Amino acid sequence: MLTLGIETSCDETAVALVEDGRLLGEKLATQIDTHALFGGVVPEIASREHLRVLPRLFRELMAEIGIRPDEIDTVAVARGPGLLGSLLVGVSFAKALCLSTGASLIGVNHLWAHLLAPGLDGEIEFPALGLLVSGGHTHTYRINSPVEFELLGRTLDDAAGEAFDKVAKLFNFPYPGGRFVDDLGREAEPDTKLFPRPYIENDSLDFSFSGLKTAVANYVAIRPELVFEKMADPDAIAALTGERRVDLARVCASFNWSVAQTLKIKVERALKRVGPTKSLIVAGGVAANSVVRETMKGVAENHGLRLTLPDLGLCTDNGAMIAFAGWQLARVGYSHSLELEAIPRGHVVPQDWIIFKE
Ligand code: ATP
Ligand code: MG
Ligand code: FE
Repeated sequence: MLTLGIETSCDETAVALVEDGRLLGEKLATQIDTHALFGGVVPEIASREHLRVLPRLFRELMAEIGIRPDEIDTVAVARGPGLLGSLLVGVSFAKALCLSTGASLIGVNHLWAHLLAPGLDGEIEFPALGLLVSGGHTHTYRINSPVEFELLGRTLDDAAGEAFDKVAKLFNFPYPGGRFVDDLGREAEPDTKLFPRPYIENDSLDFSFSGLKTAVANYVAIRPELVFEKMADPDAIAALTGERRVDLARVCASFNWSVAQTLKIKVERALKRVGPTKSLIVAGGVAANSVVRETMKGVAENHGLRLTLPDLGLCTDNGAMIAFAGWQLARVGYSHSLELEAIPRGHVVPQDWIIFKE
């Protein structure tokens, strides 16, 4: 079965083709440089860029693999969560393709796709506990199979990636700054007393990262010398030396530690609640963070779980994960009608995600 995946939920336009779970090829165009000028994603620009770039990426993918559009069996598209205008570009393109070729349509939950992505490189063992830590979401799920997800906890305010990016912005690192906080933090030991591990003094499985970001902002307010005067490019960060670098590295390490420990506490709490699980899946852009990876390795070992982490390239948005998740749904008989809608919000009630078995 040939499944095309289309991803336009945020600032990456991507397409990929999967044949029975095996990746045949993919194309991706990122808009990061455009949005970096504004310090964050500008929705209006994002949707215009998707509209401009998507047909070309699709044509290039078809040409490279050497198949015709009418050979595609299923068109899988990220239907949400994400920016509505951006999602609509992908969903409209998918519908047009289905109308013209007779392929079946399947709307994919972008977050489920992030979590299933490691399945492209190897088997995932179910049931699994899933931790999705991305730019817009921090969710935990019990995952019974590739098509059965039960939401356990979610962020009440900032997502983990958002907290990384906002902290990075405090220092005037370029957008998205998570990876610079990670890289600098690797040079120092964390001060575990410096920042709180937010929202753990309760029995909730939910997250709240906005207070942690405020704690870093308050600290930076009394240490303004740590901040770059204007937006630093990666070379300027690399060139930073002396005591300022050491101090900045310690702040980054401490922030990394607070985030990773908070995730650990909530994941262990979730594991206790959901009963036996075989694996722990950690996905989304923040799954690229070295401290998060290391910490989750420890959690998996302590609980006798197999740890499933996507390769770094599969952590952030891509078309392969959408095609793969779509194939998982299609092969057990699911498809959507052409009335499929885009759903921008991430914590929609599960019923909103009901898929029609036709
Ligand atoms: P969503 O899937 O919730 O709609 P998104 O797809 O935009 O959001 P991703 O592409 O999965 O999010 O992840 C991007 C986020 O990951 C950014 O916030 C970025 O700063 C963060 N990130 C990437 N690498 C690292 C790293 N090494 N350490 C910390 N954060 C990182
Ligand atoms: Mg992105
Ligand atoms: Fe994403």
